[in-house]
Amino acid sequence: MNVSETQGIYVTPSEVMEYLYCPRFIYFMNCLNIDQYEEQHYKVLKGRTVHEERRRNNPDYVRKKLGCESKASDVYMSSEKYRLKGKVDEILQLNDGTLAPLDYKYAECKEGMYRTHWYQSVLYALLIKDTYQQEVNRGYVCYVRSKSLMKEIEFKESDFIKAIILLKEIVQITQRGFFPKRTPYRVRCLDCCYRNICVR
Ligand code: SF4
Repeated sequence: MNVSETQGIYVTPSEVMEYLYCPRFIYFMNCLNIDQYEEQHYKVLKGRTVHEERRRNNPDYVRKKLGCESKASDVYMSSEKYRLKGKVDEILQLNDGTLAPLDYKYAECKEGMYRTHWYQSVLYALLIKDTYQQEVNRGYVCYVRSKSLMKEIEFKESDFIKAIILLKEIVQITQRGFFPKRTPYRVRCLDCCYRNICVR
């Protein structure tokens, strides 16, 4: 796929989460333009509540403990190289010279959710690396409803490679309109809003 074919196509971290749930979501949403009538599976509750909570529960001393020297909030970035765009809650400048994404989740820290949050953090890290051309080797997720528990994620080169492959797959489905494989987890089809139009 050459660059001109993919021009104008930018993937968001939420789309990647949808893709991980079932690749066909991307086909229905981006190729047939059929929106989900239900809440997206990984839509994150943001907005006023979480912003207020994070101010109250996550004061600067928490960031200091992480080695944070300064931060930028609500930073929108887009990467032509990776066809990725998104807004990260905070970018931390750490005292070892690296940058790190910090994402707030208005949720409790639970085992099952962690994988998707891990992927989101890797995607934000890619965006930061490409935008600022600085090293990003770890990220943070703050679980507001678990007393602002801060989870650290260490990134490996293989994590970035995995994320880049996912992005390419999503761009290809969107651009070429091919019908992807379904999720291997058939139980997800039971309450899926596309089940009546999805070939089994
Ligand atoms: S019905 Fe199943 S395979 Fe089809 S889009 Fe929904 S989850 Fe994916």
